[in-house]
Amino acid sequence: MSQDCIFCKIIAGQIPSAKIYDQGGVYAFLDIAPVNKGHALVVPKKHYATLFDLPDDLGREMLAALKNVGRAVMTATGASGLNVGMNNYESAGQLVHHAHFHLIPRHDGDGLTLWTQHAYESTEEMRKLAQAIAAALG
Ligand code: 5GP
Ligand code: ZN
Repeated sequence: MSQDCIFCKIIAGQIPSAKIYDQGGVYAFLDIAPVNKGHALVVPKKHYATLFDLPDDLGREMLAALKNVGRAVMTATGASGLNVGMNNYESAGQLVHHAHFHLIPRHDGDGLTLWTQHAYESTEEMRKLAQAIAAALG
């Protein structure tokens, strides 16, 4: 547990939460400021800061929980779609430094737009960047 982490305090029951799921190493609860009602957060019970800190075996458990909780969020809210999102590091909008996945129920015509997309200068630029990323793989 990280002493100054709000999600660690929620998982420990020191701060109340609208709990949905508590199994194995995974906990899920409603986001206090939902994009749409039913917006849930799925988090590891142990404190890890980002995606890159999560152990692979826990990742498997988290994927199962994301599917289970995601389906339940859709059923309970009558949603016809679901966005799964994760912000890693402050530049990407991560405000709480305890790794978490957002499950956001979506409805036809709910008006939420995600992100603006751009074009590459050329297919050459795109090909080179793909090569650079592939070369950086672990
Ligand atoms: P981030 O920007 O780090 O990906 O998202 C953090 C999320 O945690 C935000 O959507 C925010 O509304 C939610 N959040 C922050 N503090 C609390 C809290 O005390 N309780 C709950 N339920 N959600 C919180
Ligand atoms: Zn934490």
